[in-house]
Amino acid sequence: MPHTLESLRADYDALKARGLSLDLTRGKPSAAQLDLSNGLLGIDLSDDYRDAAGTDLRNYGGADGVLELRQIFAEVLGIPVAQLLAGNNASLQFMHDTLVHALLHGVPGGEPWVGQDVAFLCPSPGYDRHFALTESFGIRMISVPYLADGSLDLPAIAEHLADPAVRGMWLVPTYANPTGSVVDEATARALVALPAAAGDFRIFWDNAYAVHHLTEAEPAPLDILGFAAEAGNPDRVFVYASTSKITQAGAGVSFFASSPANVAWFREHASVQTIGPDKLNQLRHARFFRDAEGVRALMRRHRELLAPKFALVDRVLGEKLSGRATWTKPAGGYFVTLYAPDGTAARAVQLAKGAGIAITPAGAAYPYGDDPRDSVIRIAPSLPPESELEPAIEALALCVLLAEAELGAPTR
Ligand code: PMP
Repeated sequence: MPHTLESLRADYDALKARGLSLDLTRGKPSAAQLDLSNGLLGIDLSDDYRDAAGTDLRNYGGADGVLELRQIFAEVLGIPVAQLLAGNNASLQFMHDTLVHALLHGVPGGEPWVGQDVAFLCPSPGYDRHFALTESFGIRMISVPYLADGSLDLPAIAEHLADPAVRGMWLVPTYANPTGSVVDEATARALVALPAAAGDFRIFWDNAYAVHHLTEAEPAPLDILGFAAEAGNPDRVFVYASTSKITQAGAGVSFFASSPANVAWFREHASVQTIGPDKLNQLRHARFFRDAEGVRALMRRHRELLAPKFALVDRVLGEKLSGRATWTKPAGGYFVTLYAPDGTAARAVQLAKGAGIAITPAGAAYPYGDDPRDSVIRIAPSLPPESELEPAIEALALCVLLAEAELGAPTR
């Protein structure tokens, strides 16, 4: 039976009366996921705080990070260990610092960006914290919509690169936040080969979800640094990753990788900022994982916890919104993107809030919070237990239907 505005309003009033308090805003691991790495908390270093080479990790130094952990992630991420640095708990900090160094000092082969008209390409929908970073530094953001099939719009990107102001591009190559899209090898090779008017153009390749598969397919990360070198643009790519969604989000280890020249540049500027990262946490991580297979095995346990939640979201959206909206079915990562009918996302999120369901603000996945179609709603299923996830998605679906019905109705 088709819904009427009146029936939807009645359902919404009933929803409100339930007094729910549910949160789908951020892609945080659940407590059960964090428990998978509780072994980290019990690793006792009190009389074993040296790395394999015998260095006392309690002291200053070791700016590149603990070698055995870098070796594990060199294999996991497919990056030569000499080009991979291990840092503290947030890859966002590496991204922030890269931008600051680029603004103040210029990247190798370029002038400082500060004071210039600097623009970044932002495939959208994208990660709100990337956009917050570039916006905070006054970097102009150019939204580049993904194509309908979820792939990057290479011709549009090529056209923008003819503009010398375009110095950077955000990109989450694997299971992108929030669309789940994956950059394939042909696209990656094209990106590193495209002519760019700015000689110092850089791709910020944020591989935050490199090993976060939701299916049994576990594609290996692309050798993006190798592709860039082969294309004659060895310095084009900065790579980021972290264990935030592998071990414990607030207490993990982050990684930065790039060409030898870029790594030397980063190291030089970082050396005035710190006398080295928290190497004891890195050592605990190396001991906890043992090897690259240890990382992959842990990710399979995450998958067992996460995949049912994604299946639940897909099922409920199918039951409630089939034919009215579309949504992604990601093979990995942390998000489902719901494409609500044009012009309804902000209202649906507002209605959900009124009923006690917190959703990431509509527009957050676009530079400057501006979703031109007011359609995208980012769903983060990881944190709530399934018993809370189901009513939250049902409620969100109702809010989308009500927002759509209101569009065509006179205001009351
Ligand atoms: N990049 C992406 C694409 C993310 O989704 C997230 C977490 N939401 C991060 C980076 C944050 O990573 P970290 O915890 O290492 O700062």
